Amino acid sequence: MLRIKEIKINVKEDSPEILKEMILKKLKITEKEIKKILIKKKSIDARCASNVFHVYEVDVTLKGNYKIKNLKNVIEVQEEEYNTPKIGKNKLSSRPIIVGSGPGGLFAALLLAEKGFKPLIIERGECVEERIKTVERFWKTGILNLESNVQFGEGGAGTFSDGKLNTMVKDKFCRGKKVLETFVDCGAKKEILYESHPHIGTDKLREVIKNLRQKIILYGGEFLYNTKLTDLKIEKEKIKQIEINHEKWLDTEILI
Ligand SMILES: Cc1cc2nc3c(=O)[nH]c(=O)nc-3n(C[C@H](O)[C@H](O)[C@H](O)COP(=O)(O)OP(=O)(O)OC[C@H]3O[C@@H](n4cnc5c(N)ncnc54)[C@H](O)[C@@H]3O)c2cc1C
Repeated sequence: MLRIKEIKINVKEDSPEILKEMILKKLKITEKEIKKILIKKKSIDARCASNVFHVYEVDVTLKGNYKIKNLKNVIEVQEEEYNTPKIGKNKLSSRPIIVGSGPGGLFAALLLAEKGFKPLIIERGECVEERIKTVERFWKTGILNLESNVQFGEGGAGTFSDGKLNTMVKDKFCRGKKVLETFVDCGAKKEILYESHPHIGTDKLREVIKNLRQKIILYGGEFLYNTKLTDLKIEKEKIKQIEINHEKWLDTEILI
């Protein structure tokens, strides 16, 4: 795969066709030779106010073999993917339990569910649809639900923000890539994969959270809302049970 850096296009002329044209010109090839073009980064060069550019970095996969002819800003790269940790060999006596369905809990649940662990996610607040109604009621009336509010509930603390994202482009484990690809898969716009200051948007974020939940359920995960962790039972430095809502105990040997 070839990576082309520093493709500059005047913002007034920018379009997918112009970008493709620039790529073909740079590599001195025809359209027929291209298998896939993937935008890796898109930023703005506005140093000169009268001449503002979009600056692209793109990955190009070609159909046949291609020899780089010492082209400036063109390098050969390997496809980078997030590799999930290896699965252990010992059989678990109970399903893993995750406390909280903020970003941390949701992604832990997704990775475990994708590997077939069927995690149980407990959340003190409501599912995002009900949480939105409760928060809107709070803004109108001042009646506060201590368990489900702007801070607590499915989606976690930033659910009512505009969802600014960290690109983590320098992370050699590609964790940022996995997160952003998951968001796109769950309904976020695909531009977040390459924009230099990506964000999801408040209204969209809710839909993304709902779809992420559905994905986890599809893989075998389960969610319990209005369910608060209230106590733990630990024996010989190992977790044995958790108490929920001061009323019921659940067995588990894995707690996140
Ligand atoms: C107003 C605001 C705007 C933000 N905007 C952004 C942004 O644009 N971009 C960005 O990257 N970050 C933003 N953040 C920060 C971001 O929200 C946090 O970094 C992130 O939510 C942390 O995720 P987490 O899963 O670790 O914790 P949390 O999101 O806090 O999730 C914890 C979850 O656990 C639940 N919980 C807590 N205790 C219990 C219990 N005893 N039993 C069961 N469930 C429990 C809570 O209800 C909650 O859902 C913002 C934060 C706030 C407050």
